[in-house]
Amino acid sequence: YAKDHGKNQFSFYFDDLKTDAKRTFTLDSELRKAISNKNEFEIYYQPKVNYQKQQIIGMEALVRWHNEILGNVSPGEFIPYAEETGLIIPLSEIILEKVCLDAHELIGNGYKMPIAINISSIHFHQPNFITSIQQILERNNLPANHFELELTERTIMNNEKETTRKLILLKHMGFKLSLDDFGTGYSSLSYLVEFPLDCLKIDQSFIKQICSVSDKQAIVHAIIQMAHRLQMSVIAEGVEQRDQVKLLGEMDCDMIQGYYYSKPVPLDEIMEFLEFWELEIEGK
Ligand code: C2E
Ligand code: MG
Ligand code: MG
Ligand code: MG
Repeated sequence: YAKDHGKNQFSFYFDDLKTDAKRTFTLDSELRKAISNKNEFEIYYQPKVNYQKQQIIGMEALVRWHNEILGNVSPGEFIPYAEETGLIIPLSEIILEKVCLDAHELIGNGYKMPIAINISSIHFHQPNFITSIQQILERNNLPANHFELELTERTIMNNEKETTRKLILLKHMGFKLSLDDFGTGYSSLSYLVEFPLDCLKIDQSFIKQICSVSDKQAIVHAIIQMAHRLQMSVIAEGVEQRDQVKLLGEMDCDMIQGYYYSKPVPLDEIMEFLEFWELEIEGK
């Protein structure tokens, strides 16, 4: 009996491995195909709200992948895979191109707020990162100050002169620079002074329990005060509840992003949302 049991466990494990391997195989070939066709990717947008003014001051671009075989694959799955395989470079360029097209559509409809783009660490550390991003913007006739780059601690935390040089250059070009998922990297705070960052994005994990766990609240409050002392603005991500909005406002958090206002939505829906928002404000 014990032997059978062991064998079953083994075969379950083996089945899992086979399923995983099969999925990775399909993911790999479908991702390569999607990158060469370019039409399976779509950019969704999530608004960023200024708390004091109750205005939409920007939006974040988040890639979506609709595949015939795999269905909707989450970026949490295919972005890390693309990073492992180097596919992130052509994929990032496709995303940038799509965001530029959408930016023209938005501007054409009177929505001139900046768009935030997530930058992969692998992409950022390419020697030609700056030239490639510059070329895409030039080709699309859009200024750098229409964009915000969201970088993570992992990306800029390497004590390399090259990183500082790139960030300063990007800042000079006009990009706004934000530190995404702030608080999840285990790094020293000294780089906050060293790098020309405009904004800290407090990670969702702190926001989730902000109303119920007083330690989380203390950390968030401290981050906000520190950022302001360092002339940076602060945005809270993953805000879902009214109580969280209220508390963050009381703690002087500059901006709010999360399902409370809107989940990420396709371009036409974000334009409807923006129109509706303006009507609401005018109505008040
Ligand atoms: P991120 O940049 O930190 O994005 C925030 C994630 O939280 C997004 O997930 C967003 O849909 C989700 N989110 C926003 N508000 C809420 C909320 O109120 N509650 C909850 N539970 N979640 C919320 P998504 O779109 O699945 O993206 C996951 C991650 O994948 C992103 O984290 C980013 O690191 C990466 N990613 C997404 N799009 C891109 C892209 O175009 N390029 C690159 N390089 N990375 C991307
Ligand atoms: Mg982000
Ligand atoms: Mg984040
Ligand atoms: Mg994240």
